[in-house]
Amino acid sequence: MNEDFDKLRERMVKEQIFCRGIKDKRILEAFRNVPRHLFVPESQLRFSYIDSPLPIGEGQTISQPYIVALMSWLLDVQPSQKVLEIGTGSGYQAAILAYLGTKVYSIERIASLAERAERVLTQLGYNNVEITVGDGSLGWPQYSPYDRVIVTAASPSILDSWRQQLKIGGKIVLPVEYGLYQMLVVVDKISETEFSQKQICECVFVPLIGKYGYKK
Ligand code: SAM
Repeated sequence: MNEDFDKLRERMVKEQIFCRGIKDKRILEAFRNVPRHLFVPESQLRFSYIDSPLPIGEGQTISQPYIVALMSWLLDVQPSQKVLEIGTGSGYQAAILAYLGTKVYSIERIASLAERAERVLTQLGYNNVEITVGDGSLGWPQYSPYDRVIVTAASPSILDSWRQQLKIGGKIVLPVEYGLYQMLVVVDKISETEFSQKQICECVFVPLIGKYGYKK
């Protein structure tokens, strides 16, 4: 079974990630090595490596592999950087960032998802991920400032909490609501008050629910 997963994972990297233009060796290596099937629920196991998001329970999803790869690449992390992730979900994105050598601080609003993600990450030996249950729309001031912020739920806007908790020279990668659709955006912090932003592509994420996100 594990051999089958190894083959499926190799094919996922080649056909879904490399062939769509992500050729960064470190990113490809992370996707070759992190066992995505351990992050999906038993009922979805056979779909672990397909080109699609999958349900993980509680009405939430693990994102499509290509989107996780694209966001990881756009985040442009270096080992030992501090990354704030909003929306732990399955823990897969956190595992990829941990594999890349960063220290990940990840917030999830649903306790059962956070607990499962923590269990899998511990089992795989990713000690560089810290998970908390809470409202990520407030950020996580305790460990700020961060080198990078990655938001994996659609936000109504680029929130001040994330901008403030980011270092100068840092980046935020996030899906933002643009009227009827969502746009994947990269924000660069140029100075304490100046930010630039780049629109990457349309995307589809579950909503960010919280004080500065959407209401339930
Ligand atoms: N990064 C995840 C992964 O690798 O599986 C995918 C995350 S899923 C698309 C979005 C997650 O954001 C859900 O688990 C959802 O519960 C969480 N979420 C939504 N609003 C949140 C908030 N205000 N704070 C923290 N997590 C939130």
